[in-house]
Amino acid sequence: METPIETAPRVYIETYGCQMNVADSQTVRAVMRQAGFKSTERAEDADLILLNTCAIREHAEERVLGRLSDLARLKQRRPEVRLGLLGCMAQHNRAALVEKAPWLDVVAGPDSYRRLPELIGRAGFDPAVDVRLDRAETYADIAPEHAGGVRAYVTVMRGCDKFCAFCVVPYVRGRERSVPAPAVIREVSILAARGVREVVLLGQTVNAYRCGEIDFGALLRMVGAVEGIERIRFTSPHPGAMSESAIAAMAAEPKVQPYIHLPLQSGSDRVLAAMDRGYSIAQYLDLVARLRNAIPALALSTDIIVGFHGEREADFAATLDLMRTVGYDSAFSFKYSLREHTRAFRLGDTVSEDEKSRRLAEVIALQERISAHRNRALVGARFKVLVEGPARRGNAMLAGKTPQYKTAIFPAQDGIAPGDTIAVRIESTTGHTLTCSVAAPVT
Ligand code: SAM
Ligand code: SF4
Repeated sequence: METPIETAPRVYIETYGCQMNVADSQTVRAVMRQAGFKSTERAEDADLILLNTCAIREHAEERVLGRLSDLARLKQRRPEVRLGLLGCMAQHNRAALVEKAPWLDVVAGPDSYRRLPELIGRAGFDPAVDVRLDRAETYADIAPEHAGGVRAYVTVMRGCDKFCAFCVVPYVRGRERSVPAPAVIREVSILAARGVREVVLLGQTVNAYRCGEIDFGALLRMVGAVEGIERIRFTSPHPGAMSESAIAAMAAEPKVQPYIHLPLQSGSDRVLAAMDRGYSIAQYLDLVARLRNAIPALALSTDIIVGFHGEREADFAATLDLMRTVGYDSAFSFKYSLREHTRAFRLGDTVSEDEKSRRLAEVIALQERISAHRNRALVGARFKVLVEGPARRGNAMLAGKTPQYKTAIFPAQDGIAPGDTIAVRIESTTGHTLTCSVAAPVT
């Protein structure tokens, strides 16, 4: 029997980190609704507060620890509130966590969400902890609670088998496993029926997807066949796992958008080898050339780490050179953060914090120049935009993404609503945003 809505306990979920966590929080929401909980948008109103956390860099963990101190005060005022810490941080350092935040009631890793209601019921004086990794868990039978809007995330694979020397993901999310293709298609079809127009297929190495004979290229084509879905994106592919089949599907399937996030990490072969990334610069550039050849309108973004163990000035200069050679549309750059459990952990840091900051600032400044240059070249061009809703800066402007995943803003007008695809003309660019006029509605 369903719990009557007025008396149902309320759960509040705060999400940190990557899109995978955003999608996982939607799965958790579904699990908790099934257990009789209702969602709330305010921690103050909640009977249960869950933080879905990220362990990728020390900074991410520090933010969560800060938030946990705030919540300790809330718990002092309302001791009956249950507090749970989920996700990668729970997996990464559960013992330290329980020591640092003894007021936690539940600690649950990424493969334990199914058991959350039971864990919450079990929490007493000591926190209930469940951080078992499960090679088979894909949550394929749980329909995540989509947040609304024209775009939705769909997790198609979990975990990672790559074990890059700097990265904690394989340790906290476990081994690679794919969601069965029929479950992916069922989920995408449900989303399409609810008005979603764009799906983003998610996985730490999404292009390593495999379900029997179905590889990532075949999956893209299958998702492309779902009626109502107009745009397909995916993140993050690993450069070493980009098959010809996937490139061919990107080129042939019109719903797959011409944009790829292709994490580079470093422009130096020496550093790439030390990172155990599994590709050389020559191989990476060859892949970029094959992608651009197959998909001429392709936009590229990347991830860069500065200050990895042993990165010398010449290696760093090679990264800047590579960025100029490829001409990325955007880049996410990070200072190397030493992570316990990883292979590079025991090697320690060789680049000082100040030097990392300098290198990071140079990467950001160079990318700003490259992005501005690339965006300026688009002025006067027309693009199709999927309308998402009001622009952040307001002023009766609407916003959406171009096929290349650039933010376009344009004047709101009668007859244009979220979910519509329209044609815009780019009039000017400021930073990362394209300011446009509406050229014509597109059917
Ligand atoms: N699986 C994706 C790949 O390999 O392309 C990346 C997933 S990871 C969540 C996102 C990014 O975080 C990585 O591409 C890397 O640039 C960055 N990252 C991972 N570990 C890091 C570390 N220890 N320090 C700094 N940045 C890190
Ligand atoms: Fe981490 Fe490397 Fe796996 Fe990406 S591919 S999640 S960087 S181990």
